[in-house]
Amino acid sequence: MATKRRRLSADTPPQCSISSISDLPNEPLQHIASILVKPSRVLLALAIDAHDGLSSALSSAIVGDQWDTLDFGEIERKLAAILSDEHINAILVRIDAVNRVKKLKLTNCINITGAGLGPLSESSIIEQIDLSLVGDHEHYRSNFRPLISCRPQDHVLPILDSIFEREGCSLRNLRFPSVWWTGGRFEQLLRRYSELLTNHGVSCLKCNVNLPPENESWIDSSGNQKYTCYKCLKHYCRKCTRPDDIYVDDPYMLGYCDHCEKRVV
Ligand SMILES: [Zn+2]
Ligand SMILES: [Zn+2]
Repeated sequence: MATKRRRLSADTPPQCSISSISDLPNEPLQHIASILVKPSRVLLALAIDAHDGLSSALSSAIVGDQWDTLDFGEIERKLAAILSDEHINAILVRIDAVNRVKKLKLTNCINITGAGLGPLSESSIIEQIDLSLVGDHEHYRSNFRPLISCRPQDHVLPILDSIFEREGCSLRNLRFPSVWWTGGRFEQLLRRYSELLTNHGVSCLKCNVNLPPENESWIDSSGNQKYTCYKCLKHYCRKCTRPDDIYVDDPYMLGYCDHCEKRVV
């Protein structure tokens, strides 16, 4: 894409040359990007690109290449709440999420249906997807009904299925919106996901017992995955971790194993 970007010179005094952010030289933009949280970096690149166009090199410099984790909890709650599926799609495409992102957390992205997650389809590297839309120890208001749904005719299930079915699938942790428990087809999704984990041969890292235990399920009634540390994604049985770590009484608190430095308190 052609770019209007240019460097300032002594012949073009800065006060006369800069009429928009796209007129800034590269170095200040890169510096601005360097102090932003990661989702804001890519939003900045998309905004400049939409306005004036952005060279591939400068786009890469602004966006960066450390995208193991994409967590919308890093940005202002109000900003995350107005992001659309188009925004999410553009972000995932811009950062090449299908080949880079291992952890995706859609914290506070309450305005999406899930259609924007398409670029993640068939990812073989994604390990964790948090669809709960809430922060680590938050929960929905009782009357809140998110747009994102688990109905088969909607967007999320086909995307998840494409990941489940991908050869070499790395998925180890899903967190669901708790309201999905009232949805009709959620049981089918849970069954397919449980089969995936079982096919992986998941067992306790310490004692090697198969997980989940007989007659137990992977997901609790709040949409959180059991036997899995939310931070390091390692699996432990109940006997091999402290009761207040992976297994918490408050359904809205996430479990961290005793090897991880911080627990949700
Ligand atoms: Zn164990
Ligand atoms: Zn851990």
